[in-house]
Amino acid sequence: MTKKYDVIIVGAGPAGSTTARAAAENGLKVLMIDKDSFAGENTACAGGLAPFIPANYRLKKDVIMRYIDGAVLVARGKIIQNAKVDFKFSKPAATTRRIYFDRHLADIAVEKGAEYMGKTLAKEVRGNEVHTTKGVFKAKVIVGADGPSSIVAKAMGHPPWKPEELALAVAYEVSMPNEEIEERFGNSIWLYFDKELIQHGYAWVFPGNNMLNVGLACMQTHLNGKNLQKLTDRFMKQENINGKILTFKGGALPMCGPRKYTAKGNMLIVGDAAGHTGPAIGEGIRYAMKMGEVAGRCCASHVKLGAPLENYDREWRKKYYWMYRVEKWGQKFEFFAERANLVPIGLKLLSLNPFRHDASWWTEI
Ligand SMILES: Cc1cc2nc3c(=O)[nH]c(=O)nc-3n(C[C@H](O)[C@H](O)[C@H](O)COP(=O)(O)OP(=O)(O)OC[C@H]3O[C@@H](n4cnc5c(N)ncnc54)[C@H](O)[C@@H]3O)c2cc1C
Repeated sequence: MTKKYDVIIVGAGPAGSTTARAAAENGLKVLMIDKDSFAGENTACAGGLAPFIPANYRLKKDVIMRYIDGAVLVARGKIIQNAKVDFKFSKPAATTRRIYFDRHLADIAVEKGAEYMGKTLAKEVRGNEVHTTKGVFKAKVIVGADGPSSIVAKAMGHPPWKPEELALAVAYEVSMPNEEIEERFGNSIWLYFDKELIQHGYAWVFPGNNMLNVGLACMQTHLNGKNLQKLTDRFMKQENINGKILTFKGGALPMCGPRKYTAKGNMLIVGDAAGHTGPAIGEGIRYAMKMGEVAGRCCASHVKLGAPLENYDREWRKKYYWMYRVEKWGQKFEFFAERANLVPIGLKLLSLNPFRHDASWWTEI
């Protein structure tokens, strides 16, 4: 027998779980499915949480690996070989492991009344039916929170992302004792811009709890046949990071800003599925959660009050589209600065600015 729900959410990452929580809190019958036993199990991520997240969500203590109070940007070039600038945040950011973070968000959605079904791959969306490896489920609304290769986006008529719209990224989790982390990296996240290593991309070191997350991201069309894992190995050697490798994962990120429409008929898309990832550096968790809140509420007003589902599209654009405009300008500026060999010079100048320590504008959004 086909089971019926108000909302079926495909994908239980940050976008899916936040949508599920908001919809369940508003009294809807919600089913959330994920192809993995638990969301986050196979998700590649640096685990960086923008200050908005610890400030606005009551996260369990053991989900946070480390509170982060700043960012250090490092650039290497020919004229200036090593430029470095550090920013301080007015509210703490954090680092996490997705395997714990995503599960925690899914648990909260379940506490609020959503049903969770793991190891369930959605194969196709047909009208109001989701065809999965565990049978067919029906709902009034179907939400695609299923990442960059979303099958719900496909059912809505969106083509796959083009290579020039995607970045590829890989991340290692590497062991390092906390004393060494504190001495070398402190409580800051480190981003490295090194044209010799990678173009139109960057490397990172994010400190955790007795471990680091080290990785590299690059626009797909600028990889020129290079192997991201080998480049990351080279970067780790260069930075003298040689602890035990705990995990290695890779993934894709849409870097072109949101899809033209994110609601159609009885379907909507949210998070990476909708291209909600920030195009400047590929930060996506904060956006996925912000849009998930809007999606969950709009599902409720659609099911309970008959409000059009397109209100979701209108509402998030009205509230947040300006952030994508800013990020896209940031991305253009980065590309220009890199092409003109200006990144190390720019950072050097920035490091002379007496106000550089204040990054509170970022912590407020
Ligand atoms: C290497 C790397 C590092 C990153 N680092 C950061 C960072 O430090 N901070 C940050 O904010 N962002 C980071 N991002 C981006 C961030 O991971 C994403 O933007 C974020 O995960 C988007 O959340 P989401 O819920 O939309 O999608 P996802 O987290 O991708 O969740 C999608 C879920 O859907 C499930 N799924 C997919 N297809 C199906 C299907 N057909 N049926 C059932 N289930 C399905 C998946 O199993 C998954 O659990 C990084 C990305 C990469 C690749």
